[in-house]
Amino acid sequence: MKNLLFTLTLLIASLVSAQYWQQSIDYTIEVALDHKTAQYNGTQTVVYTNNSPETLHKVFFHQYFNAFRPSSEMAIRLKNAGDKNGRFKVDLDSLSPKQQGFLKVSGLTQDGVLAEVVDSETILEVSLVKALAPGESTTFKMSFDGQVPDVIRRAGKNSKEGIAFSMAQWYPKMAEYDYEGWNADPYTGREFHGVWGDFDVKITLDKDFTVAASGYLQNADDIGRGYSDRKKAKSKKGKITWRYIAPNVHDFTWAADPDYIHDTYPGPNNVTLHFFYKNNPDIIENWKKLQPITAKLMEYFNEKVGPYPYKQYSVVHGGDGGMEYAMLTLITGNRKFGSLAGVTAHELAHSWFQHILATNETKHEWMDEGFTTFISTLAENKVLEENKEFPLAGSYRGYYRLAASGVEMPQATNANRYEHNFAYESTAYSKGAVFLGQLSYIIGQDKLFETLQTYYNEWKFKHPLPNDLRVIAERVSGIQLQWYLTDWTQTTNTIDYAIEAVNTTEYGTEIHLERKELMPMPQEVLIQFKDGSTALHYIPISLMRGEKENTYELAWTQEKDWMWANPKYSFTINQPKENIEAIVLDPSNLMADIDKSNNYYVADEK
Ligand SMILES: [Zn+2]
Repeated sequence: MKNLLFTLTLLIASLVSAQYWQQSIDYTIEVALDHKTAQYNGTQTVVYTNNSPETLHKVFFHQYFNAFRPSSEMAIRLKNAGDKNGRFKVDLDSLSPKQQGFLKVSGLTQDGVLAEVVDSETILEVSLVKALAPGESTTFKMSFDGQVPDVIRRAGKNSKEGIAFSMAQWYPKMAEYDYEGWNADPYTGREFHGVWGDFDVKITLDKDFTVAASGYLQNADDIGRGYSDRKKAKSKKGKITWRYIAPNVHDFTWAADPDYIHDTYPGPNNVTLHFFYKNNPDIIENWKKLQPITAKLMEYFNEKVGPYPYKQYSVVHGGDGGMEYAMLTLITGNRKFGSLAGVTAHELAHSWFQHILATNETKHEWMDEGFTTFISTLAENKVLEENKEFPLAGSYRGYYRLAASGVEMPQATNANRYEHNFAYESTAYSKGAVFLGQLSYIIGQDKLFETLQTYYNEWKFKHPLPNDLRVIAERVSGIQLQWYLTDWTQTTNTIDYAIEAVNTTEYGTEIHLERKELMPMPQEVLIQFKDGSTALHYIPISLMRGEKENTYELAWTQEKDWMWANPKYSFTINQPKENIEAIVLDPSNLMADIDKSNNYYVADEK
């Protein structure tokens, strides 16, 4: 019977996952960059398969670099937001022609026939010559011409730290059509989403440049430069062509500089870590010290979430801060060591929460920024031996500031549609990290990590939605969580529980609690007695239809469920009030209670 049940469970699980679908794509790109003009041109062949149940009549390509010019939608948005976007230091309307970027697609064909296109700035709309039915594949070919903008945000030429080219979001990137529809949002400076597939990319540029890229270099033996032992690269007419293959990724990024030092370092599970950084005597020591730390960080994420699935990861000096890409990150590198290690921890963690578990950053930004912040904060605490007692304190503080700000919007808001940049950043990073911290309060820390590992196994190389995580957390914990997902991510409801009164009764002491705000949360109540002993009481909420296992060293008394509709709750302990020294709600601090001042009762000293 047990076996039959197990088989049935497996069958049901496979039926459920069979409903999930995602598009697939293969890119073959050849690009040549003229480093003097910062202009590039190339050809791109895309084999696109429609795995959706819908027939497609249009498809869309991103042309991100078109945002970096005066009067672009991004330029307008930056001026009209409720507060200044601190990540943009340059007024786009002041850009000279040489500082601007562009990407222009021409001659786009579908299966050899010229297609009708509309250039809508950062989105190219393509009317299909022949509609694409479910299960069908089609081939798009196109030429493109581009200009690399100055580094204004994430990508570009001539970064502040002198990196020549940071080439992110540089090619005509197909927009993703997924479970939630087309993701052809204009680029106004925020987040990304892409189609899973394979990239085969040839990059040709001046022989003096060293290239770092997503994917595995195919002609390392001809090039050397730290990729092989070869002394002098094979070049043709002063140029080198670098060919990379990146399998099963949803983006392709590269960087190039004539002064890169390129080191490799052995990571866990035979992964080779690559480090590309400017040959600047001030930073070399830090970048050497970073290498064993990166290996340890990867080990931490492998253990806590799941094994890094590629054979290569590169930490690349470039960009304007830190940004995650497939198989690599671009980070600024003239930093103090702690900051260099911290940004590497964060961006490397994104390999799991974005480049393996590819949530749509535009729609569910808290699932990549928040989860990344959560796991990288814990990793830093361990690997960098910070040993803080409550490492997530910074994220909780960030959330409390947001909740008190008056400008919070629900986490389910599209990343492009937040009125205030502050609200977007706090909800994505801080409130997103608190989502997991608090989930560990509700289901227990062991169950949280079991949830993350199951989530990794079931959703790697896919686009998980918030609900997919809920399903797994419920399965792992036996606790229902729809209330948590809904209140936390789709509303701005807050949590405030209070100790209202502590009264003597004929049976002992009655402890009265109150829910002062809308969001429900189970309660853990620690009572400290004057004789030095303690007691822990656990109050589940009826919405959970289950209870957390007690993983504390202290035994607890489980009280009756708290019904959400009733703002009041009381329970009795069989000890006289005089014996009580203090009472505290949530001694773990993992519950994001916006007013902690009413979480305490302290006996009067008489
Ligand atoms: Zn991030």
